[in-house]
Amino acid sequence: MVRAIVGANWGDEGKGKITDMLAKESDIIVRFQGGSNAGHTIINDYGKFALHLLPSGVFYRHTTSIIGNGVALNIPYLLKEIKELEEKGVPTPKILVSDRAQVLMPYHVDFDTYEEARLAGKSFGSTRSGIAPFYSDKYAKIGIQVNELFDRDILRERVKKICTLKNVMLEHLYHQPLLAEDELMDLLAEYRDMIAPYVCDVSAYLYDAVKANKNILLEGQLGSLKDPDHGIYPMVTSSSTLASYGAIGAGIPPYEIKNITVVVKAYSSAVGAGAFTSEIFGDEADELRRRGGDGGEFGATTGRPRRMGWFDAVATRYGCRVQGATEVALTVLDVLGYLDEIPICVGYEIDGQATGDFPSAAKLAKAKPIWKTMPGWKCEIRGIKKYEELPEACRHYVESIEKEIGVPITMVSNGPKRDDIIMR
Ligand code: GDP
Repeated sequence: MVRAIVGANWGDEGKGKITDMLAKESDIIVRFQGGSNAGHTIINDYGKFALHLLPSGVFYRHTTSIIGNGVALNIPYLLKEIKELEEKGVPTPKILVSDRAQVLMPYHVDFDTYEEARLAGKSFGSTRSGIAPFYSDKYAKIGIQVNELFDRDILRERVKKICTLKNVMLEHLYHQPLLAEDELMDLLAEYRDMIAPYVCDVSAYLYDAVKANKNILLEGQLGSLKDPDHGIYPMVTSSSTLASYGAIGAGIPPYEIKNITVVVKAYSSAVGAGAFTSEIFGDEADELRRRGGDGGEFGATTGRPRRMGWFDAVATRYGCRVQGATEVALTVLDVLGYLDEIPICVGYEIDGQATGDFPSAAKLAKAKPIWKTMPGWKCEIRGIKKYEELPEACRHYVESIEKEIGVPITMVSNGPKRDDIIMR
């Protein structure tokens, strides 16, 4: 059975924890998009980890962790993450990297940095991990696939093309040092030797695994609203964050994805610029940020404070719809226990008109939140294992959200640890 775990919001929904938990019953966990630009925070018996490139299944001995073809593969970064696991005593995981994944190069990071600097105040708030230049090159057909690292002639020709194009930009737009063909060829030879032990025809491997009825988890990064097509363009990421892209980014038939577990936050947070209708500010935001997640809502990759907001039913309903959610895991519910009343955004007002439909970008910029206030439960709910044992106001909150989004909430996460979970 193939199951996707993806986010319905702006990312940081707690997908890492849910994946880590569900990985226990899985044979294979696949990353299918994105790169090292976002992180998953996982707390388990080995300690606390911020994984960026490795799938969240690497902590189990029985699982195979796969970097699919859709991922932006930063080779030195991957090796660094593997080494960190070993240093913290995690048994060496079985890792496979698709021979069709493309290689994220240092010049992608440089271009990301130069462009953010050039845009200055109008920047996208990129994490400067090279993701946008990487995917631009992939679709401009000047990327480098892992299998090509093993063919010097193909590489030489590609590198020539890359240098011609990039050097024009470096010289005339950014006024930065130029790329040199020979240096790139040397670097690519190093990358080849580093990645060689992991390279695999992943699509063929997964084809056999599906036939053998293995349990496969597709692990998404970020969330629906960061999808380049269905998200808040242009304040989005550069690869699709949707479960359906899992078929492409892993190389499996779309109809094999039977279960789409969408992770939803009980309040909202976002990083980077862009519309965020239910955003809150000042002391109200500071308090939620400080109490949020596990030790505060700060980026797993950048440490940047996340923008905070209350639960947004309009965005989340839409986020679940574009993912094709079959079930929802509601996370960070425990965080809200300090509030007397909890606002949720149940509609948008655009040009004086109320709507429950998530609008496209131009209209979204004008949306104002319509609030409804829910009673708080004013107590600690961590440690509770049974849904019926949650305070009535808390169940009411969960059920109201369920009604708003129209998808069954089958899991409620009430703490950062693996076993802080209530199955419904
Ligand atoms: P991801 O990228 O979607 O995996 O999300 P992050 O890992 O960036 O953010 C989730 C944060 O919330 C992490 O610090 C988790 O340890 C923490 N977390 C996950 N689920 C819960 C929960 O139910 N309650 C609390 N308090 N923290 C949680």
